[in-house]
Formats: sequence, C-alpha cells, structure tokens
Amino acid sequence: MSKQNELVPPPLKNDCFSLPADTHWTPVSEALALLKERLHVCVGTETVPLFAALGRVVAEDVVAQRSNPPQPNSAVDGYGLRHSDIIEGPQMLPLVAGRSAAGDPFEGELPSGHAVRILTGATVPEGVDTVILQEDVTTDGTAIAFRGPLKKGSNTRKAGEDVEGGGLILAKGRRVTPADLALAAATGVSQLLVFKRLRVAVVSTGDELAEPGQEARADQIFDANRPMLLAMIAKFGFEPIDMGRAPDEREGLKKFLDKAAGSADMILTSGGASAGDEDHMSALLNETGSMTLWRLAIKPGRPLALGMWAGVPVFGLPGNPVAAKVCTLIFAKPAMDALGGSGWQEPVALRVPAAFSKSKKAGRREYLRARLRHGRAEVFKSEGSGRISGLSWAEGLVELPDEAMDVQEGSQVLYYPYSAFGL
Ligand code: AMP
Ligand code: MG
Repeated sequence: MSKQNELVPPPLKNDCFSLPADTHWTPVSEALALLKERLHVCVGTETVPLFAALGRVVAEDVVAQRSNPPQPNSAVDGYGLRHSDIIEGPQMLPLVAGRSAAGDPFEGELPSGHAVRILTGATVPEGVDTVILQEDVTTDGTAIAFRGPLKKGSNTRKAGEDVEGGGLILAKGRRVTPADLALAAATGVSQLLVFKRLRVAVVSTGDELAEPGQEARADQIFDANRPMLLAMIAKFGFEPIDMGRAPDEREGLKKFLDKAAGSADMILTSGGASAGDEDHMSALLNETGSMTLWRLAIKPGRPLALGMWAGVPVFGLPGNPVAAKVCTLIFAKPAMDALGGSGWQEPVALRVPAAFSKSKKAGRREYLRARLRHGRAEVFKSEGSGRISGLSWAEGLVELPDEAMDVQEGSQVLYYPYSAFGL
C-alpha cells in the first residue's frame, strides 16, 4: 500500500500553472486560455506627469477634465456672421472694427447686419453662428461681399464636439500612445495614475554559454537569448532586469532564482526546461511543487516549464533562441500584459497569400519566421530552431493551424508582424 502511495504525485501548491492531469500535448489555445484565466495584475500604481506617461499602462478610467474644444471656435480663417443676416445671392456686409484671433478673442457681441474678421482657432464671438471662408469673399477692409446661401454653423467647431467634459478618454488597462498624450493634454489631464512597470528578470542557463564580448572557448557559444529577451521586455514596455548566466548546477541556479524573485515580478529563464539530466530549471521548479512542464503542441518550442518561485511566476523557456523567442511572443508576452495591468491582449493577425508552399501534418501549431514582400508572406529558408539568422531576417511570424494544412503559393495564411506583439 505504502509503495503504491509513493507513486502518487504530490498535490500541487501554487497551482496556477497546473494542467488537467491527463493532458499529454497541450494545444496552444488551451494553454493560452489557462494563462488568461489564472493570471491577474500583480503590480501597484503610481502617478506620473503626462510627459513621462508614454508607454505606461493606465490604472483607472481617465475622464476629460474639460470639453474639447472648450468653447465654439472657428475652423478656418474667414469672417463671422449671423446666419439670419444671410440672403440667397450676392450681398455685402460691413465689417466691425477688431477681430477674433486664437488666444485673443473679440470682446462683445456682433451687431446684426455686420461681419467680423475671424481666424482659425479663435473663439466665435457672441452673435456669430456661421463663418464664411476668406477665399469665398472679396473685401476692401471695411466690408465683405459674398454670395449666399450658407449653411448655419458652417466652418465653426462646437464646444465639446470632439470630447465632452467628464467623458471617458482612456480606459483602464490602455498602454499610453503619443496620440493619447495629445488627447489627455487637450482635455485638461496633466497626470495619470499608471501601473508600476512590471519588472521581468532574465536568467540564461547553460554551462556552454559565454558572455558576449568576452573570450569564448571553442566548445562555448555566446549567450544570445539574454540580450534578445531583455530587449524584447523593454520594447514591450516592461522593466527588464538582467540576472546574468546561471550554471547547469542546481544549488547555483537556485541562488539565481532567489535573487531574481527578490527583485522582480516575473522571471524568464532560458534553457534547461526539458526533462533531461542537465535540465535543472524544470527539476528545481518541480521541487517547489508548483511546477508544470507544459508539453505544448507547438513548433518550435515544445517544453515550457511554468512554476512559482517564492511567489513569483517563472516562465522556463526553451534554450533554442528561435523557440525562446516564439514562446516569449506567444505565451510570455500576454502573461506579462496580464500581470502588468493591460489585461489579456490578443495579437491581431493579417490574412495574406503565401509566397511559399509547405505540407504540414496535424497535431502541432507551427510558427514560421516570415516577412511580407509585395503583399505575400515569405518564410525563412530553414525551419531549424538554432537558426538565429532567420530570427533577424524575419519581420513577423506565419501561424499554421493545429490541423494539417497543405499550403500552396497563394494560399491564405495568418501573418503576425512583430509589431502585433508590441515589438
Ligand atoms: P536547452 O534547452 O538548455 O537544452 O538548450 C537547447 C539549445 O539551445 C542548446 O543547443 C543550447 O546550447 C542552446 N541555448 C541555450 N541557451 C542559450 C542561449 N542563452 N543562447 C544561445 N543558445 C542557447
Ligand atoms: Mg541547457
């Protein structure tokens, strides 16, 4: 009896990454659904001035502090009139002294039967309800001659026609763009409550790795994942933390994870994620009881070791740079968005004709290094997951479905430009 019990796996703690017990190959969509369901924002908030808010994630709904425009103003350089003075056909109206310019409004009310010079952006004086374009009048400086009729309200902008004061301008979870800064500024918002930047630690594992810029033995390779992953995190808008390279040795790696968990909200490791002798990442996460080795039905990038280390989620990415990048884009990026306050974000794909042919078997979703040329998706000449040159060549990924697919030149395929992931 006791012998049999030893074979029963221990109950999972911190089980946010656990998979159904009988899952063999986890389909990508199922893995994403689990992450979406279980990961929630884990960072606090802070207030930042507008000028420092680019790329930050808004932590509460933001409303306009005033209307835009705040007052009716002129959309053109021209002359302000009362619509009730305008007749059909040719006519003349005397000009009043003075004018209304942007930032220097006309004081007082326009007397009936008159017109007033008005410039773009200037407040529409009292009495004026219509503006005629200067190109549509002739003038000697004392009067204007023009031809009616004119539509009431022509060439004027109504107060609040763009945004009403009190209206929602930026929804919670939005990542602030340059245009959002214009909208916030225009509506009187000068600071934003944002989520603190998600801190993401990056650890490379592998005794074969040498530091870029240093001497490497012939049997060593340079650590290519760390500079790539750190740069991706920064481009996503999060705070990368470089933890360096960890050895293929359990105690040593443990220290790296302890340190990373002490300074980050999420940890990305690369290498050692499978179940081999030197795959200490998955072994260590296993010891915590929180580990799930996700055998994903994906190519490239099969094993993904997910677990909690001292309360911090760890994504144990495959070591191959191509697989590491694909797994980061497909799994870790949406997870970062969820933890960082943006909510679950799905990349938007383009449906484009293929410039290649390929016969794909059923079972695994495939991502090909691709780029768009002349409106068609071309793919890198090799699918080898060690081919870093293809990562650099590509400008996005083609996604082939879990099912079998016979791609011919001209077949419609899904193409995700890297920008769809925030790169
Ligand atoms: P692993 O997942 O540790 O078995 O590594 C799979 C492959 O990726 C091996 O060929 C490793 O040498 C390679 N690899 C692992 N980490 C890196 C890295 N940081 N940069 C470049 N290649 C790596
Ligand atoms: Mg390794």
